[in-house]
Amino acid sequence: MSINFTAEQEMIRKSVSDFAKKDVAPIAYEIDRDEIFPAENFKKLGELDMLGITVPEEYGGAGYGYTEMCIVIEELAKVCISTSAVFASHADLCVDNLCRNGNEEQKKKYLPGLCSAKLIGGLAMTEPEAGSDVMSMGLYAEKKGNEYILNGTKIFITNGPIGDIFIVYAKTDTPNGSQRVTAFIVEKEFEGFEAGKKYEKMGWRGSPTGELIFNNCRVPEKNILGKEGMGGHILMSGLNTERIVMAAQAVGLAKGAFEYVLNYAKERKQFGKALTEFQMIQGKLADMSMEIELGHLISYHGAALADNYSKGPALTDKALRKKMNLVASYAKLFTSEMVMRVTTEAVQMMGGYGYMKEFPLERMMRDAKLSSIGGGTSEIQRLIIARELIN
Ligand SMILES: Cc1cc2nc3c(=O)[nH]c(=O)nc-3n(C[C@H](O)[C@H](O)[C@H](O)COP(=O)(O)OP(=O)(O)OC[C@H]3O[C@@H](n4cnc5c(N)ncnc54)[C@H](O)[C@@H]3O)c2cc1C
Repeated sequence: MSINFTAEQEMIRKSVSDFAKKDVAPIAYEIDRDEIFPAENFKKLGELDMLGITVPEEYGGAGYGYTEMCIVIEELAKVCISTSAVFASHADLCVDNLCRNGNEEQKKKYLPGLCSAKLIGGLAMTEPEAGSDVMSMGLYAEKKGNEYILNGTKIFITNGPIGDIFIVYAKTDTPNGSQRVTAFIVEKEFEGFEAGKKYEKMGWRGSPTGELIFNNCRVPEKNILGKEGMGGHILMSGLNTERIVMAAQAVGLAKGAFEYVLNYAKERKQFGKALTEFQMIQGKLADMSMEIELGHLISYHGAALADNYSKGPALTDKALRKKMNLVASYAKLFTSEMVMRVTTEAVQMMGGYGYMKEFPLERMMRDAKLSSIGGGTSEIQRLIIARELIN
């Protein structure tokens, strides 16, 4: 298997890369230091037609797939993971999810605004008592007439403090007295909705993360995403694409760190020689580059599978579903641990300078840590892989 990008995909890469170098990289330090949400750059991503990258053109999107989404994320993450995280939560977790599972009325109502940067999206599943064990969530949606009344709290929500539209998972009653998960589209203007506290974080500092509070929040029945009780399926299929997107993001971050440290090692002289002339440094560079290449291959293999999987009939193909679950977890697990090794080694290779905030590797190493936590931890990826292999 080889991964060949089309001329069109290379054009997308170039256009995002140019934008990232010109508009994102120069403010990446400030975004991290001051926890600034990069609002202007978010709008520019809308002008570049990237915010609805997987959305058909009739709803204001660009009509591409997950491979193109991964390309955008990789290029942004090379220079600023906060910008790529804001983008990923919006374009993948909210917009793509809404596009895949929404009905015609919902798509017409929400997608044009989300694709053009008028609206910012996010997705809320995690709760104080339901993290890895997400299906044990407690946010409850009680049906009253043609509305649902939501009560509970979501935590750690990317774009929570700035978002306009959220995909929210909650428990609803079934006729037999049990409960199932239902997905809702919630507008920040809905009565009873409130964006709670904003967290201060180790990394991803420019991507605002916050609580969402639902206090008798009134959501119209027509805002159910998919069907009542189908939220579990929507959530799980969304997690697979999230994992592939997060893998591409980790690859981008690792590539950015590697490029920086390679140039540094060529310039820095000790014992009368450039660092690159020392065999121990050469060995580190070789290992880093090999790991990044492997991460690249598994991420785009996952993206290609997701592009296939999202095309109708494949959804019912059990073997493909199994493969998708496996590859999404392989990609997430491998790249999240790879990016930590690469950024840590890159800091090491810069010596004391690597530890200083005036150079980007210190930030990149902090940013790398979240890869093995968000979207399902490394431990959970290992459990999923083992489950798929054993069953
Ligand atoms: C910056 C940031 C952004 C985020 N953005 C979003 C978002 O936009 N939307 C959203 O819904 N969520 C979001 N999350 C939440 C994220 O998905 C969760 O943090 C993650 O799933 C882990 O859940 P937890 O933090 O509750 O950890 P826990 O589930 O409490 O896990 C704690 C530790 O126990 C381990 N563990 C748990 N169960 C097992 C097991 N069965 N076997 C072995 N080990 C286990 C875990 O791997 C972990 O190491 C975000 C989190 C962060 C930090």
